[in-house]
Amino acid sequence: MAVISNNSLLQKYLDLDQKNQVQVEYVWIDAKNNLRSKTRTVDFVPQSASELPEWNFDGSSTGQAEGHDSDILIQPVALYSDPFRRGDNKFVVCETYNPDGTPHSTNYRYECKKIMETYADTIPWFGIEQEYMLIDPETSKPYGWPKHGFPEAQGKYYCGVGAGKVFGRDIVEAHYRACLFAGINISGVNAEVAPGQWEYQVGPCVGIKMGDELWASRYLLERVAEDFGIIVTIHPKPVSGDWNGAGCHTNFSTEEMRQEGGIAAIERSIQKLSLRHAEHIAVYGEDNDLRLTGRHETGHINDFSSGVANRGASIRIPRHVGKEGKGYYEDRRPASNIDPYRVTHIIVESTFMPDN
Ligand code: ADP
Ligand code: MN
Ligand code: MN
Ligand code: MN
Ligand code: MN
Repeated sequence: MAVISNNSLLQKYLDLDQKNQVQVEYVWIDAKNNLRSKTRTVDFVPQSASELPEWNFDGSSTGQAEGHDSDILIQPVALYSDPFRRGDNKFVVCETYNPDGTPHSTNYRYECKKIMETYADTIPWFGIEQEYMLIDPETSKPYGWPKHGFPEAQGKYYCGVGAGKVFGRDIVEAHYRACLFAGINISGVNAEVAPGQWEYQVGPCVGIKMGDELWASRYLLERVAEDFGIIVTIHPKPVSGDWNGAGCHTNFSTEEMRQEGGIAAIERSIQKLSLRHAEHIAVYGEDNDLRLTGRHETGHINDFSSGVANRGASIRIPRHVGKEGKGYYEDRRPASNIDPYRVTHIIVESTFMPDN
C-alpha cells in the first residue's frame, strides 16, 4: 500500500506560496455510499458553501449515470476548513443533481433538508456515535490482529489503555484533531469492544447539520487513514463470529424533550417509532441483519423494544434521562454504514406523524 515515504520532500512543495488562490476539495457521496472528491481552485476565500460555484463530475465512473448522459451536478452545501492543506483552503460537502436539475436518486440530503425545515421550530438535536474498524491492508484483517489465528477474546479492548489492548490510536488522535480544525462538532472518541474497533461521536447537531457533519467527519477519517496506509471499514459486521458489530447509535431530542417533564415527549416519540419498525430498519443500513442478532449489545432486527439503560433494546433511554425526567433517547438500531440523512429524516418524520 502506497504511503507517502518522503514527507520532508513533500513539505518543500507545500511550503510554496499559493498566490492568494484557494484550493477547495468538493466531496460527494457515490451510488454505494462511498465518498468521492476532486479539487478546484477559486480566487477568493469562501465564507459559506453558497458562494462556491456548482460543478460536475462523470457519473458513469461512480455508478451514478449511464455513459451517454453522464454529467452529474454537484452543489456545495456545507463548508469546512481543510486540515490537510490548511491555511485558507477548504473542503465542501456537496449534493448531487441530475442534468435536468432534479435531485439525484442517491441524494438523500434533499428530502432530509425539507423535513428539517418543516419541523425546525421543534429544534431537533442529533448526536451520532460512529463505530468503525481499522483494517491492515497487508493481511486484510483488523489492524493489530495476529497474522495467523485470532486475538484474545473480547473483554480488555473497550476503552482500553496500554499495548496489546488498543490498536491505531495515532490514527484516532489525528482524526480527532483534524475534525476540531475543520470545525466539526466532534464530541468524543473511545476504543470499542472488538480489537481494532473505534468510535467517535458527532453532536449535538441541529437538523440537517447532523448529516453534513457526519459525512464531513467520515471524509476526514478516510483521508487520515489513507495517510497512515490503513483501511477504514464501516461495514456493520466486519468479522463474523463472537466479535461486536459496528453501529451508528443515533441520539435524538427536541426542545420539548429537553425541558422539564420532557420524558412524556420522549415516550410519545418512542411510541411513534414502534409503529414503523420495518420502515426504519429499511433505511438503517445494508447488512444490518448480520449485526442486529439480539446478541453483542443489540436488539433483534425483527423486534422493537425500548427501556431505560437497556443496551439490548432497539431504543435506550439513558439512566440519567430516566432519572431527571428529560433529555434525549438513543436509537441503537442504525448500522455503522447508514446514510445519516436517511436516518435523521425518518426519526423526525415518525415522531411528528399525525395520530390516527
Ligand atoms: P453512549 O453512552 O451510548 O456510548 P455517547 O456518549 O457515545 O453515548 O454518545 C452520546 C451522544 O449523544 C453524543 O453524540 C452527544 O453529543 C449526544 N447528545 C447528548 N445530548 C443530546 C441531546 N439532548 N439530544 C441529542 N443528542 C444528544
Ligand atoms: Mn477529465
Ligand atoms: Mn458511545
Ligand atoms: Mn459504541
Ligand atoms: Mn450508544
